[in-house]
Amino acid sequence: MTGSPAPQYDAVVIGAGVCGIYQIKRLVDLGMRATVLEAAADLGGTWYNNRYPGARFDSESYTYGFSFSRELLDEWHWKERFSGQPENLRYLNYVADKFDLRRHMQFNAKVESAVFDEAADLWQLCLADGRKLTSRFLILGIGLLSIPTLPRVEGIETFKGRSFHTFHWPHEPVELAGKRVAVIGTGATAIQVIAEIADKVGDLTVFQRRPNWSAPLNNSPISEAEMVEIRSRYDEIFAACSRTPGGFEHEPDRRGFYEVTREERVALWDQLYEQPGFGIWLANFREIFTDEAANAEFSAYIADRIRRRVKDPKVAEKLIPKDHGFGVQRVPLETQYFEAYNRPNVHLVDLSETPLVRVTETGLQTTEREFAFDIIVYATGFDAITGAYDHIDIRGAGGERLAEKWRDGPSTFLGVMIHGFPNLFMPAGPQSGSASTNYPRGIETGVNWCTDLLQHIRAHGYVRAEATAEAEARWTDHVTKMYAMMLMRKAKSWFTGYNSNVPGHEAGRVRYFVYNGGAPKYVARINDVAAKGYEGIVFDGESERPAAAAD
Ligand SMILES: Cc1cc2nc3c(=O)[nH]c(=O)nc-3n(C[C@H](O)[C@H](O)[C@H](O)COP(=O)(O)OP(=O)(O)OC[C@H]3O[C@@H](n4cnc5c(N)ncnc54)[C@H](O)[C@@H]3O)c2cc1C
Repeated sequence: MTGSPAPQYDAVVIGAGVCGIYQIKRLVDLGMRATVLEAAADLGGTWYNNRYPGARFDSESYTYGFSFSRELLDEWHWKERFSGQPENLRYLNYVADKFDLRRHMQFNAKVESAVFDEAADLWQLCLADGRKLTSRFLILGIGLLSIPTLPRVEGIETFKGRSFHTFHWPHEPVELAGKRVAVIGTGATAIQVIAEIADKVGDLTVFQRRPNWSAPLNNSPISEAEMVEIRSRYDEIFAACSRTPGGFEHEPDRRGFYEVTREERVALWDQLYEQPGFGIWLANFREIFTDEAANAEFSAYIADRIRRRVKDPKVAEKLIPKDHGFGVQRVPLETQYFEAYNRPNVHLVDLSETPLVRVTETGLQTTEREFAFDIIVYATGFDAITGAYDHIDIRGAGGERLAEKWRDGPSTFLGVMIHGFPNLFMPAGPQSGSASTNYPRGIETGVNWCTDLLQHIRAHGYVRAEATAEAEARWTDHVTKMYAMMLMRKAKSWFTGYNSNVPGHEAGRVRYFVYNGGAPKYVARINDVAAKGYEGIVFDGESERPAAAAD
């Protein structure tokens, strides 16, 4: 115990998204003095911000919702299999109100810096509005897709029409009728927004740098009767989610790719293409993720599907990725996306042939010509996984800066703790089990684990907990080695830290961002650490303890 003054809070949670909402619930239930600091004007995180037309789950709604309260599960009616942003935000507000969590949240409270005070074993936080707070523990629920990025092109500020990143889509309705609209990007967000607005705008021009693989979402409404049936199966549903690598209901096909005939493979793919959600990705043969030839055969199947849906063969070819195979990065799911290109008012500009030169006062200029627009939509994604961490000046023991420590990519213990940054927890951090899965399933796992650790700390009267250097090195090495067998290591995606719009990320990073061993292995691993008295973590004045084996 230190003789320094007690901190204002036992725990501060940064972020009021899915993670922050559940984390504060657990802390309040324990009677801890805790608060949530949220930069935005209200709660919801991803679902508060991304209000663009077409924003919706690609997780089945009933597998995305929280699982911790039977009462909540019995009360909430998901109206669509893949629910849209307005409903998702209503849901998160309903949860916060039901459990009276709002009074533990502070909005418009952007944290600019977090500095560990070694003498007092606490975190000193500075907010953008000048306020200062102290807390024994700091829990980061700041999101993995919460810092939007714009293209690195000149003139963005000179455009005289309306323009916004999809993350900042205005809260009030945007008049699209008759408007000349540009969408820059063809990633997961663009694929949703393009399909949704194609028949609502006057003219739509899509600027594509690299195409993405995409498959049908196959959304449908959920009736009262179906919801009753889903409620009766919740235990089964969540059990299935915890069994599967992705945290979804979709289980991989257990047959070997090469054990069945080509006809049998195609029969499975025909069936999966018509099914809702990520089945086409996650209920496929496992070799799709590891075997070049298997992946190429399946990618060719999907390419044919695209050719069948897009009338102009030249446009179809442009929409088919040539530089990576299907499923080596998170797969966007679409509703009539490819059909949008059959409309006379929708045009595709291939930026790999005619790169963007600048944004002008009236529109966009490529190496070929100038385009005039009323609205430019930047669907250009996020500084993924570590962006929100880099945006806070986080300094640990000895003043070490986290952004500096992570210059070549994150290094963590279990994706939850960082050596040199005591009393800091990331329930859904880089290299944790969350990013490659159905997030809320990973978030609940991470929050529960962190909360158990906090209880352990409290029970022993500790004031300081820190991952050892050795434990961190082993975990980071383990995460990196797991990529060796996965085709995803070759993809230019946020799974590998690639983003040409973020300085320093143009070639990916040395260390990997995402644990891809799957949810069951991850949960087994973190539970084992806890069962062994938190092997790999040192408390208070303890000297080094044995590091946890990583696998
Ligand atoms: C368009 C879109 C669709 C998605 N669909 C799915 C899906 O179907 N299934 C799925 O599993 N995942 C999906 N995701 C991923 C999604 O981010 C997670 O499902 C989940 O919402 C993450 O919750 P979170 O609380 O961890 O982070 P977020 O929801 O990102 O919340 C983080 C919060 O932290 C706040 N914050 C960050 N920095 C600071 C700071 N310095 N000070 C104060 N506050 C700060 C932010 O303002 C934000 O409110 C989607 C993401 C996007 C962008």
